[in-house]
Amino acid sequence: MEEKCGVVGISLEEGDAALPTYYAMYALQHRGQEGAGIVTHDGFQQHSEKGLGLVAEVFDDDDVEHLPGRASIGHLRYPTAGEIDERSCHPYTVTSKRGSLALAHNGTLVNTDEVRAEFEERGHTFSTNSDTEVMVHELASNLVEDGLLDAIKRTMKRIRGAYSLTLMHDDRVVGVRDPLGVRPLCIGKLDDGYILASESVAIDVLDGELVRDVRPGEVVVLDEDGGGFESHRLFDEVPAHCFFEYVYFSRPDSTIDDRLVYDARREMGRLLYENHGVETDIVSPVPDSGRAFASGYAEAGDLEYSEALMKNRYVGRTFIMPTQDARETAVRLKLNTMDSNIEGKSVTLIDDSIVRGTTSRQLVKLLRESGASEVHFRVGSPPIVAPCYLGIDMASRDELMASDKDVDEIRDEIGADSLEYLNVDDISEALDMPRGEMCTGCVTGSYPVDVEGETCERTKDGSRAGAD
Ligand code: SF4
Repeated sequence: MEEKCGVVGISLEEGDAALPTYYAMYALQHRGQEGAGIVTHDGFQQHSEKGLGLVAEVFDDDDVEHLPGRASIGHLRYPTAGEIDERSCHPYTVTSKRGSLALAHNGTLVNTDEVRAEFEERGHTFSTNSDTEVMVHELASNLVEDGLLDAIKRTMKRIRGAYSLTLMHDDRVVGVRDPLGVRPLCIGKLDDGYILASESVAIDVLDGELVRDVRPGEVVVLDEDGGGFESHRLFDEVPAHCFFEYVYFSRPDSTIDDRLVYDARREMGRLLYENHGVETDIVSPVPDSGRAFASGYAEAGDLEYSEALMKNRYVGRTFIMPTQDARETAVRLKLNTMDSNIEGKSVTLIDDSIVRGTTSRQLVKLLRESGASEVHFRVGSPPIVAPCYLGIDMASRDELMASDKDVDEIRDEIGADSLEYLNVDDISEALDMPRGEMCTGCVTGSYPVDVEGETCERTKDGSRAGAD
């Protein structure tokens, strides 16, 4: 699974905002590794630098120095909608008689084709097939008739799906979170200004202070002089937060909607033991994302926590793996066994999720080959039965192991002695978040937005049909 994108927006009292934006993007690198971009505004014009690759590969000292201005937005890209090429790197920019506009987007829209077709009928052309470019066109054309806030409101009424945005209209930096609050976005106070960012770790790295999360349906406008911000709650619907942000995507040291992600994962691990605990010699995580779950699980069961697998940190995600066989080899490139911790022992292996099942099957096999007497598998989320349309590159339905298999069949397929998952109610309890305020599309097949060919769980007014 890969997250689609991280966003940053900074407005300072003085000095240039590009360097803090660059540092904040470093802290958010896990949210997108395919491309990076920064656009600044110096009070007269925009300056932009973007390209393919990691933040460290796209920018050098010179690049950052040549991005003047107290206002800046930045973006990290992992494409789920649109191809991978330099033209589709964010932030997208347009200039018109109503000023310059730059936009960075985390999420995916579900009605892009419809909006794009209308524009094309009116003679607009697009340079990419990205949903974000469609959003920029919508916003720019609304700006012709309206002021910024009304233009944003009209745009939010027109587009549907998941979007946490940082945008810059001339030198004014704005944050927008979609009415469902699917993806995170927060506000931080810096020594000499304010920051908007996908996750609070971007604020920490600048030694700033987390003010709060941007609320679902809220537009936050940073003052041009970096002295404060205005809030406008334009929509007030029942939210549909992506619970996978807590399970997997966000950094464990981030705080989202007042919950430290690490604590949420430990609590999920505790519930996993409480509901599905098994006594084994050791409890071991699938590194790195299984660690907090395993530590919560081991503590709850008073069991020994011991690492059975070690990750090769220098393997990126860019090696070629075109076939299933190659994917299986890739597991060995990434993870090695610590045989002395495993030999003759019963092991509970804990992972955050199972997507295709390839990795899980390989890991169980590796542990057995290293002498494990039993391998029990525990998963910190429910079975993934359907794709994500809201900003996560997951897999197609027929690639998802749980789309056509029950838990016993999956257990047999991955070769474990036992297999158990958390269910949606456990997740809701661990996050202390009502079930009706979470998106659960990929684990229930029922989505908080209309997606062609899928079930929508919401009524027209945004409330959740049959919510608990
Ligand atoms: S479908 Fe799954 S991954 Fe996508 S937003 Fe909903 S909960 Fe998150």
